[in-house]
Amino acid sequence: MKTKRLVILGSTGSIGVQTLEVVRSLGERFQVLGLAAGRNVTLLEEQARQFQPRLIWSEDDGARRALEAAAGPGARWTPLEEQAAHPDADLVVVGTVGRAGLMPTLAALRAGKAVALANKEVLVMAGAVVTRAAAQGKGQLLPIDSEHSAIWQCLWGERRSSIARILLTASGGAFRDYTQEQLARVTPEEAMQHPTWQMGRKITVDSATLINKGFEAIETRWLFDVPLERIEVVLHRESIVHSLVEFVDGCVKAQLGEPDMRVPIRIALCYPERVPNAARSPIDLARIGELHFDAPDFRRFPALSLGLKAGRRGGTYPAALAAADEVAVNHFLAGRLRFTDIAGLLEDVLSTHVSAADTDLEAVLEADAWARTYAEDWVRAKV
Ligand code: NDP
Repeated sequence: MKTKRLVILGSTGSIGVQTLEVVRSLGERFQVLGLAAGRNVTLLEEQARQFQPRLIWSEDDGARRALEAAAGPGARWTPLEEQAAHPDADLVVVGTVGRAGLMPTLAALRAGKAVALANKEVLVMAGAVVTRAAAQGKGQLLPIDSEHSAIWQCLWGERRSSIARILLTASGGAFRDYTQEQLARVTPEEAMQHPTWQMGRKITVDSATLINKGFEAIETRWLFDVPLERIEVVLHRESIVHSLVEFVDGCVKAQLGEPDMRVPIRIALCYPERVPNAARSPIDLARIGELHFDAPDFRRFPALSLGLKAGRRGGTYPAALAAADEVAVNHFLAGRLRFTDIAGLLEDVLSTHVSAADTDLEAVLEADAWARTYAEDWVRAKV
C-alpha cells in the first residue's frame, strides 16, 4: 500500500477538521504534506504540531514563525496555490469556503492532481473553467459534498447515457417549518441551528435559505455532466437518503447513511477502494422508522429558484450569484441584513447582471468582482 500525500486547504474548518480525523483513523494510508487555513491560528498550530506538515500557510502573516516552528524543522511557508500544485502532493482536499478555493483548485487540476472538493462555490462560479482545467491537466475531481458523493456512488459501474434524472435531497435547513412572517424576523443564531448537520457558518445559512441546493444542482451539472433540466430537488427531513439517481429503465438507486460528513470524506480520500471503518455507525432503519419526502416550497424559499435559474441561464450568472451570496451571508451574520433580504439581493443581482459571452476565467473573475461591488452597494443602501 502506497502512502498518499495530502494537502488540506481550510484545515481549521468543519470539513478540514473532519478530514484530519479521517486521516488519523486511516493510519499509514495518508501522510499530511500541507495544511493551510484562514485566521484560526491556534487550531492550525495545534494541527501543525500533531501532523508535522512540510508545507504550512495561514492568512495571518504574523503567525508565520510560530506555525513553521510548530510544523517542525524544514517546514516551509507555502501559499494555497503552491501547496495545491506541489510535485509531492497526491491528493488535494479543498475545504475552504466561497471564492478562496477557486485558484488553488485550478492550480491542482492543471498540475494533474486528484482534488477532493468540498468548496462547492468553486464549481458554481467556474464549472466550465474547472472541468476544462481537469480535462487539460488530467486532474481528477472527487466530490466530498454528501449529495454528490451519493450520486457518484450510485453511478459507479453505470453509463452516463443511462441517467434519466437526478434527485437531490435537501433537509430544508433551520427554517423549513417557519412561515413567511417568521422568516422575516429570524436571527443569525437561529440560522445556525441546522436540524441534521453540524457545518461551517456560511453553508449553514445557505442551507437555511436553500440557495445551497441551487448551488448543489449546479455542482451536480458540472460533476456528472447532466443538464439542469434533469436535476430535481426533493425535501427529505431526516438526511438519511443522501440523493438518488433514476435510470432510463425506471430503476432508481439511492445512497443511505446517518448524516456524518466523515463518510463522504473517507470515500473521496480512499477512492476507488472501500476501506473498512471500525467506527462506522450502522444504519438502524427500524429505529428511524419513517422517511419523509416532500416538494420544496419555492415561495417561502425563493433563493432556491434563483439558484436554479442562474444555473439554467449559465454564462457568468452563477458566478455573480455566488459572489453576491457570499457578501449577503456575511452581512446577515453580522446583523446588518435581514434573512429575507438575502434572496432580495440575489434576485436584484440576477436581474441586473449581464453575462459575458465566454465563461473563461477572466469573465468569471470580472463577474465576481462586479457582483461583490453591487452587493456591497445594495447593503449600504439598505441599512
Ligand atoms: P468553515 O467555515 O467551517 O471552514 C472554512 C475553512 O476555510 C476554514 O479553515 C477557514 O480558515 C478557511 N479559509 C477561509 N478563507 C480562507 C482563505 N482565504 N485562505 C485559506 N483558508 C481560508 O466551512 P466548512 O468546512 O463548513 O465548509 C467548507 C466548504 O465545504 C464550503 O464551501 C461548504 O459549502 C462545503 N461543504 C461543507 C460541508 C460541511 O459539513 N461543513 C458539507 C458539504 C459541503 P479559518 O477558520 O482559520 O479562518
